[in-house]
Amino acid sequence: MIDQKVKRLDEIKGWLVDLDGTLYIGDTLVPGATDFIRWLREERKHYRFVSNTSTLTRKQISEHAAKLGLDIKPEEIFTAASAVAQLLRSFDGVMCYFQVTENILEEFQGIEMSETNPDYVVVGDLGKGMNYDLLNKAFQLVMGGAELIALQKRRYSRGANGLQIDAGAFVDALEYASGKQAKIIGKPSRQFFNLAVHDIRVEAGERWLSADFAFVGDDVEADIRGAADAGLIGILVKTGKYNDSYSEHHGIVPDWTFETVKELVESLT
Ligand SMILES: [Mg+2]
Repeated sequence: MIDQKVKRLDEIKGWLVDLDGTLYIGDTLVPGATDFIRWLREERKHYRFVSNTSTLTRKQISEHAAKLGLDIKPEEIFTAASAVAQLLRSFDGVMCYFQVTENILEEFQGIEMSETNPDYVVVGDLGKGMNYDLLNKAFQLVMGGAELIALQKRRYSRGANGLQIDAGAFVDALEYASGKQAKIIGKPSRQFFNLAVHDIRVEAGERWLSADFAFVGDDVEADIRGAADAGLIGILVKTGKYNDSYSEHHGIVPDWTFETVKELVESLT
């Protein structure tokens, strides 16, 4: 059964707000971003700022936002790495092996590590740091019984020197060689939305339904379809990644659509 979604924006209990493309685009602030954050705080809403990055820590994202004039605390941010960390901490006494960059390792503090007999192998972006030996090490651990978790599964991305192979290609190699399926935790995986919602429920001490939560984002596929699949309200903003033809061709219908977060916050106040 699908829970009934709210009919009015002011009935939304918890807010998940995408960062890149929604509150800022690279180094440029989107109009209304500051007002929206102020509204969330003044109205004592429960919220998380969400980023799908797998290369930056929450602290680094917070510092980037501060440079643009946005006051966003690391503990208010939710990323694929922080979602995985939350998940692993919820399992009692598991041992993990991480193939992530030094900075991202920070997010997994307090989780027990094992290079020889882990329960979970977590693969993130190693970029140029990835090599045959590392890939093979992850492969051997998975063959030895470890579960494979991936922070993301992008095939490629665009870098300073053009297109570049991304972590997904290595995750795929591991899946192919081991015959095991990786658990992908980044957006748009349903688990990512569920973990973010859980985080807010714990903070609020409330048993709100998924349908009481909204996701505000610029990406029709990852944000709006992802939110809908997880039973959340989808609020699309036409900034960042948004383009008209995509949403038309894919038949994804957001619950609300605004030009920018400025129009969203104006309709809330
Ligand atoms: Mg975005």
